[in-house]
Amino acid sequence: MEHLPDKIRSCSKAVQKLWTLMDPCTLCPRQCKVLRSEGKTGFCGIGDLPIVSSVGPHFGEESVLVGKGGSGTIFFAGCNLGCIFCQNYEISHQRQGRIRTIEQLVQSMLDLQNHGCANINFVTPTHVVAAVAAAIELARQKGLTIPTVYNTGGYDSVSTLKLLEGLIDIYMPDMKYSDPEVAGELSAAPDYPKVNFAAVKEMHRQVGDLHTENGLAVRGLLVRHLILPGDLAGSFKIMDFLSEKISRKTTINVMAQYRPNYEALSHPHINRRPSLEEIASARRYAMTKGLRVLD
Ligand code: SF4
Repeated sequence: MEHLPDKIRSCSKAVQKLWTLMDPCTLCPRQCKVLRSEGKTGFCGIGDLPIVSSVGPHFGEESVLVGKGGSGTIFFAGCNLGCIFCQNYEISHQRQGRIRTIEQLVQSMLDLQNHGCANINFVTPTHVVAAVAAAIELARQKGLTIPTVYNTGGYDSVSTLKLLEGLIDIYMPDMKYSDPEVAGELSAAPDYPKVNFAAVKEMHRQVGDLHTENGLAVRGLLVRHLILPGDLAGSFKIMDFLSEKISRKTTINVMAQYRPNYEALSHPHINRRPSLEEIASARRYAMTKGLRVLD
């Protein structure tokens, strides 16, 4: 722990542990084992400090996150997944943005709260989770009270998530695939289903079902699932898992907005939008399983 930055030394043992997990980096299931404090980068392409592509109130999120002041998003560049249909590839793959210190992250969070945002929404935080956790702890010491949202692609290690207990109020993971072969082909992560199912279980253990007050989420699990054409996402198995292994009261956003983008335009299986019937049958199935399906 001798090499920890001063700011991190004043944080909890859990945050210090997260920081040490970057040297060599085993923060996420990729296990790249690069020395990020020495500027080395692995699959996600980011050093020990995050690159932030944008900060601001966002009104396009789920209504339970938005309220009057918007969801206070902090959008991180880089990603530990390699989705060929990524809607934000300039940010995730080209890593557009500016390096931010922990102090700057803390200030951004306090500014978003002062602006009237309903929560702090960390978008794609998995690969920069050490900085995120430190910033949450320090921001709370300076008066941050609004909920924190971990808005993740869902490729998260259980051991890393355990160190976030108490720091995250709302977990919002994607559940992208239930088929390893598809996950390997479309996101370069054949172990995604296994990792993702275990991660969602740990997230639910920490925060439980989604709880709202006055129409706004304050704590809990909110799953996002994007319908892909030809049921490539394996939607039915994901809904079975949520209903039978997590909770019948799980809140899920069954998303219909898939459009071929980036490398997907030339991919024969995902170069079209899902049909209206494919979308409707996935939504119907989720409701049959008793899940709380967002409008
Ligand atoms: S966080 Fe980045 S460097 Fe670390 S294991 Fe994951 S992809 Fe590799």
